[in-house]
Amino acid sequence: MSIARALTVAGSDSGGGAGIQADLKTFQELDVFGMSAITAITVQNTLGVQGVYPLPPQAAAEQIDAVSTDLGVDALKTGMLFSAEIIEAVAGRIKEHGWRNVVVDPVMIAKGGADLLLPEAVRALKEQLLPLALIVTPNIPEAEALSGMTIRSMADRREAAKRICAYGPAVAVIKGGHDEDGEQVVDLIYDGAFCTELKGKRIHTVHTHGTGCTYSAAITAGLAKGLPVLEAVQMARDYIQAAIEDSLELGQGHGPTNHWA
Ligand code: PLP
Repeated sequence: MSIARALTVAGSDSGGGAGIQADLKTFQELDVFGMSAITAITVQNTLGVQGVYPLPPQAAAEQIDAVSTDLGVDALKTGMLFSAEIIEAVAGRIKEHGWRNVVVDPVMIAKGGADLLLPEAVRALKEQLLPLALIVTPNIPEAEALSGMTIRSMADRREAAKRICAYGPAVAVIKGGHDEDGEQVVDLIYDGAFCTELKGKRIHTVHTHGTGCTYSAAITAGLAKGLPVLEAVQMARDYIQAAIEDSLELGQGHGPTNHWA
């Protein structure tokens, strides 16, 4: 039996709600074989990040090579990359393997404020990784950091998406979950020519830990299965909506969104 294969290059969340753990659970739910290259280990539970232990950049590169030369990779996503050195190592391997189905989730800061990307590494993310991305999936604060502008309106979001795509990604998905306004969450998709808005009902819950990881992992699973870009994003949007509706009241803080009844 053959199966689509997806690789996540990201950080470990010991609490199981975000990072590598959320990605692998999402791949599994979507019938895709999941593989991982771990970039950093976080000490974490639903109350937040208590420690960050980055691995040597070479460790990420070797994990990527080991799985790609043996198992094969139909699509790949990046999550927490932490430093410019890790970004450089990961970008080098993506280039070397010539992968096109690359989703970059530009993870920067955890909900509790911990740095998952060093501020000085934003430049490496823009200049080395974005040119290799098919799809980039920033939330609003990440889109502001990547575009260098403040986002207050949908027009700002469209402008930020254009600026971000100028670095190379074919498609930018600017997620609207951080916009506190209104009963709808609007995600903006820009494909280099047109903007599309994907709308969903806002779910009022604090249990949203790992939402961004799960969303980008679902897009990656869609690409691995051969879905066209916009269909993969729409499928992932539906999936994350259902996941937030089903999010768990586990732990004392922000419960995870990566479990389904
Ligand atoms: N920890 C890791 C390893 C992650 O990759 C992410 C996700 O982006 C987070 C934590 C952040 O999750 P949240 O913003 O839901 O706290």
